[in-house]
Amino acid sequence: MAEYERNNRADKGDRDFGGRGKARRSRRRVCAFCVDKVDEIDYKDISKLQKYTTERGKILPRRISGNCAKHQRCLTEAIKKARTVALLPYTKE
Ligand SMILES: [Zn+2]
Repeated sequence: MAEYERNNRADKGDRDFGGRGKARRSRRRVCAFCVDKVDEIDYKDISKLQKYTTERGKILPRRISGNCAKHQRCLTEAIKKARTVALLPYTKE
């Protein structure tokens, strides 16, 4: 009875949940500014700053940009400075 055997196996496989599907990502995220050995972020370099803002003009959170705490702080300062001198928008519609 090959038919019966196949059904039985399918039944077994259905009950077995293989793992929880939570693969931990071990890809190391390095801060782009640390790689370039940047000490101060130029607020006039808007092309660079724009990469760290959303299309609506918000600053990307660190978990997305992958910056280190030090450079993320520099970056927010630079973006804020750029906003005050109207190089970057506060919000875009
Ligand atoms: Zn850094």
